[in-house]
Amino acid sequence: MKERYDVILVGAGLFNAVLAHRLIGQGKSVLVLEKRNHIAGNCYTYEQDNIDVHKYGAHIFHTSNKEVWDFVNQFGEFNNFINSPIANYNDEIYNLPFNMNTFSKLFGIITPQQAEEAILKEKMMEKMCVPSNLEEQAISMVGRTIYEKLIKHYTEKQWGRKCTELPPEIIKRLPLRFTYDNNYFNDKYQGIPVAGYTKLIENMFDGCDILLETDFLADRAKWEGMAGQSGMADKIYYSGCIDEYYGYCYGPLEYRSVRFETVEYDKENYQGNAVVNYTSDEEPYTRIIEHKWFNNKGSDKTIVSSEYSSEWEKGEVPYYPVNNEKNNALYQKYKDIKNNKVEFVGRLGEYKYYDMDDTIEKALNIEL
Ligand code: UDP
Repeated sequence: MKERYDVILVGAGLFNAVLAHRLIGQGKSVLVLEKRNHIAGNCYTYEQDNIDVHKYGAHIFHTSNKEVWDFVNQFGEFNNFINSPIANYNDEIYNLPFNMNTFSKLFGIITPQQAEEAILKEKMMEKMCVPSNLEEQAISMVGRTIYEKLIKHYTEKQWGRKCTELPPEIIKRLPLRFTYDNNYFNDKYQGIPVAGYTKLIENMFDGCDILLETDFLADRAKWEGMAGQSGMADKIYYSGCIDEYYGYCYGPLEYRSVRFETVEYDKENYQGNAVVNYTSDEEPYTRIIEHKWFNNKGSDKTIVSSEYSSEWEKGEVPYYPVNNEKNNALYQKYKDIKNNKVEFVGRLGEYKYYDMDDTIEKALNIEL
């Protein structure tokens, strides 16, 4: 370890990994502080019985941005995984995202025109308005049958809130298409790093000093006095929660958290697919992932994780910002606090529902 660094990065997740690579390229000295005992944030994977386990849930890399795709490919090879999740609604199986396979099974139709007619018929039964919440948005996109079977309960389990109390934007992420195409993402590039996300991100951090199990906030004065030439902290990039950094002085922001129940089975195949969403309110979990199918290296065992969504509480891992009006306004108050030393970055620092590719794009483009 050096006595002094040009830049301190708080958090060893994806955003800071990209920053680290850029900073090292500029000849800067970089210290990374990570409070967990591993790098890679929630992208972290570890290997067990020749299976890469996504400890913090499924991470499927997808992007339409060639610059981002070329950037990540410098740090490791990607496989050709295509995400084709399945929905299980009370043991009825449907393809996702909503496409001709889904419509055919739901409505008994065959052609795209028939599917459009079936959905239009459903929509005509509703009173139409400009959608002001997720329920109205979903029904205006796909009608009530799909909403009830594939959206309502899954969303309410995931967000712990009624669909009528959630913003319409969340559901706009989901593709709707009139082809027999089960590829969940519309993006041009997609895949999983063949050596695991941890290795990929480790390669991005090449040249930095990294301290694990080091909580920046527990010793803030020490670290803030360490960055920059003059003994002053001229630059710190902080990828933790902005409200926690400021001691929750305006009150806490809301986050969703996720808990995983992970089990290893002494058999080769558990559910025949990487991702199965449970879209009814019969099961308490939102989905089950079978890790080996993301990057099949061959194993006579299998590892599956059931995903339970919960309201985040202090001390837990936050996963998703809850971007409703109240929280966005509160975030803005924190953001407006003048701070020349610290820049808040990433999903938690910026309180934004970034995907991995958004994160990288943002990190590649911020002025250093
Ligand atoms: N969603 C749903 N049914 C599904 C999958 C997703 O209703 O089977 C909705 C749900 O509201 C979710 C949103 O679509 O929050 C976005 O889903 P996505 O899979 O993009 O979420 P993530 O993978 O980021 O958790």
